[in-house]
Amino acid sequence: MKKIYGNKYLLDTLHNMIRQNKPAHSVIFYGEKGSGRKLMADYYTSQLLCKFPDGGKPCGVCSSCRNNGAGVHPDVMYVPTEGKLESYSVRTARAVIADSGIKPNNDTARKVYIFRDCRNMSTQTQNTLLKLIEEPPEYAYFIFTAESRNEFLPTIISRCICLGVSTCTTDEAVQSLSESGYNTDEINSATACFHGNIGRCTDYILNSELKKQVDLTKRISDSIIRKDEYGLNSALYSVGSSRNDIREVLSMLDKLIRDCAILSRDKDARTISCFRGAAQQLSGMMTVYQAISVHDTIEKAWKAVDSNVSAPLVFSGLCAEIMTILN
Ligand SMILES: [Zn+2]
Repeated sequence: MKKIYGNKYLLDTLHNMIRQNKPAHSVIFYGEKGSGRKLMADYYTSQLLCKFPDGGKPCGVCSSCRNNGAGVHPDVMYVPTEGKLESYSVRTARAVIADSGIKPNNDTARKVYIFRDCRNMSTQTQNTLLKLIEEPPEYAYFIFTAESRNEFLPTIISRCICLGVSTCTTDEAVQSLSESGYNTDEINSATACFHGNIGRCTDYILNSELKKQVDLTKRISDSIIRKDEYGLNSALYSVGSSRNDIREVLSMLDKLIRDCAILSRDKDARTISCFRGAAQQLSGMMTVYQAISVHDTIEKAWKAVDSNVSAPLVFSGLCAEIMTILN
């Protein structure tokens, strides 16, 4: 299993639960993309299923640990999503309920259901799952991962242990990436953009799409800095209509605007976006109030895309609103 960096409090909590033989039946791991939510979900699953946990840690060598590591453990279910919005349907929730009636067939007598990247999980789906989460069979465990715990209804949250997964320090990210065998140049350019977010740094090195999205975000921010409406419009249009691409670029742009607001109060503050230089330039030309308005506009654009409004329409609106805020 991959070494987990940082997140000491979270790991202590997980180890204690296993050591005391009181693992939580339902856990929500929440944190930003790339922070290691899936890694934590897999780790907790290994802890639950390991035949010989040591101090709460999975041994990593028993058949359970090996099968889970290879993604082929028969009692670990990665619950599938459906449709363009990649959400969990009521039908799927019912299938999980039916399946949870079947006892596991392994030495630890546990069975784990993993709902990854919960986003837009409908109220009906959550209500369908609620009863199962309230009174789960003694062998059944449910793990949810999401960017925010606000993705869930309060009734679900109150039945789960919510554990926030944090990004690491840049030094830890450098260490982890060197251990994975990447070269210094790759590591430096990745950590310059994504700091201690090891998942995003790895994506940046391996995935040319992410590099393109980073470049586009830079083009967008440069157009904002120049107050170039035509440039901003054309940069936004270049993002295309893939919901995933739009989500990535808008989220990076939003972090940049967040940094701009922070830097206008404290020019030495730590930044989280890909371009500190651009955030500094923006902070010189935007008030905190304007930055908050741009953030609200980006959030509104994102919600529109998420509820299936066409991308070009959203981009035109976003461009016009940003220009109005700046002028
Ligand atoms: Zn093991």
